[in-house]
Amino acid sequence: MDWSAIAALLAAEGLEVIQDPQQRQKLSTDYAHFSPILTEQLRGKQADLVVLARSEAEAIAVILCCVANQIPLTVRGAGTGNYGQCVPLQGGIVLDLSPMQRIVSLEAGRAVVEPGVKLGKLEQQAKQMGWELRLLPSTYQTATVGGFVSGGSTGMGAVNYGTLFDPGNVQSLTVLTMEAEPQRLVLAGEAAQPVIHGYGTNGIITEITLPLAPALPWQEAVVSFADLSAAIAFAQNLANQDGIVSKEISIQGHPIPQYFSSLKNYYQPGDHWVMVIVSALDWLAFTELAKSNKGQIIFEQNPQAPGKKVNLIEFNWNHTTLLARAMDSSLTYLQVFFYQDLEQILTLEKLFQDEIMFHIEMMRIQGAMCLAGFPLVRFTNGDRLEEIMAAHQNLGARIANPHTYSLAGGSVQPLPESQLMFKRQVDPFNLLNPGKLTD
Ligand code: FAD
Repeated sequence: MDWSAIAALLAAEGLEVIQDPQQRQKLSTDYAHFSPILTEQLRGKQADLVVLARSEAEAIAVILCCVANQIPLTVRGAGTGNYGQCVPLQGGIVLDLSPMQRIVSLEAGRAVVEPGVKLGKLEQQAKQMGWELRLLPSTYQTATVGGFVSGGSTGMGAVNYGTLFDPGNVQSLTVLTMEAEPQRLVLAGEAAQPVIHGYGTNGIITEITLPLAPALPWQEAVVSFADLSAAIAFAQNLANQDGIVSKEISIQGHPIPQYFSSLKNYYQPGDHWVMVIVSALDWLAFTELAKSNKGQIIFEQNPQAPGKKVNLIEFNWNHTTLLARAMDSSLTYLQVFFYQDLEQILTLEKLFQDEIMFHIEMMRIQGAMCLAGFPLVRFTNGDRLEEIMAAHQNLGARIANPHTYSLAGGSVQPLPESQLMFKRQVDPFNLLNPGKLTD
């Protein structure tokens, strides 16, 4: 392929094209380096060109060029995905949609946005109107709405709203197809499902409608426990309270809090932490519950107050892994659904004493409150990692493997036939992020 000619063609359409090798390398990566397996598999993969689109019309110009020349196309938001979703396995063009930053409309209970809008910016503007996003990944300050819908799954708010897959959490998506005559599909309700968490393999999202939740005054806290089972029991108890509204509940088993350097003054070796964001209106009931569960509130802050010490969400979800790896790069992680089974966790704790540390998030899965684990694992080699995953599965836990770039390979259940059929319709030449759906 004559990449200079392709670059000239796109530049003639008014598009910004990046050819510089260092810039191309930077814009061909994400946070797959959390996995030593993916680090090896994705090494050296790089786009031949990076193109920035500021509008739907510019995205269409890139589609036309790619289809006409049969060039693979990988869409990119902020590049914070964990599974190499933004890495172009077969080279070609990386289409950066982060310049599409228009908030189309923001009204009571609903936001309509372009894909490059930062979640943090949208959250801030919604809050000014008394609303907030239902679900936010811990990367919300940098991640885009398009990248979250296409590459993420849930985050802060999971304790109330579950995941992006739950009907209602994504109201509609406008998607461009990868055809010689690109179609603009407006997919509302269930029709949007094949695109949600589709890794940009099932169309290019140019507009998203998300529901909003009424904003509450929140209070952040850390509750400390002497043993892991007491910490988990408290987290489950709090998550199941009908009168105490929470939006984040995580368990950070010993010795994970040692990696939280900005909270080091609060940590006593041996302690297990439950990190929470609860409604300030329910604070008294929350403190009473913590006390009756033998927990000690060792840290609290009003996140709205000026001069707050930390941003509590940035210790949770995959920020836990980020902070731990910053201090010990031999660590990696797993994604495990323990559902309600505390015994599985305690058995694994005994089996893998020095190899696993338990980070667990409370989340709703299909209406039931569940323990979703993001355990930190001390990596030795790939075979041992497989053994550890098998041990989880043998006990009945389900793994969403974060050490594969394939959507099918990382999914708990086989991909639905409807998703594969939709793929064939919208991307008949298999040019969108090839290799990421079923390989
Ligand atoms: P990108 O990484 O740029 O893209 C992600 C995927 O979406 C790619 O496959 C890309 O091709 C596709 N894509 C992007 N834009 C479009 C578009 N317009 N049309 C079609 N496809 C598109 N995830 C969570 O769900 N919850 C968390 O709490 C969370 N915490 C994290 C913490 C850390 C420290 C890190 C590194 C990652 C975390 N993630 C989490 C993963 C990731 O940050 C989020 O999923 C994030 O929302 C991705 O947004 P992004 O803009 O960076 O997307």
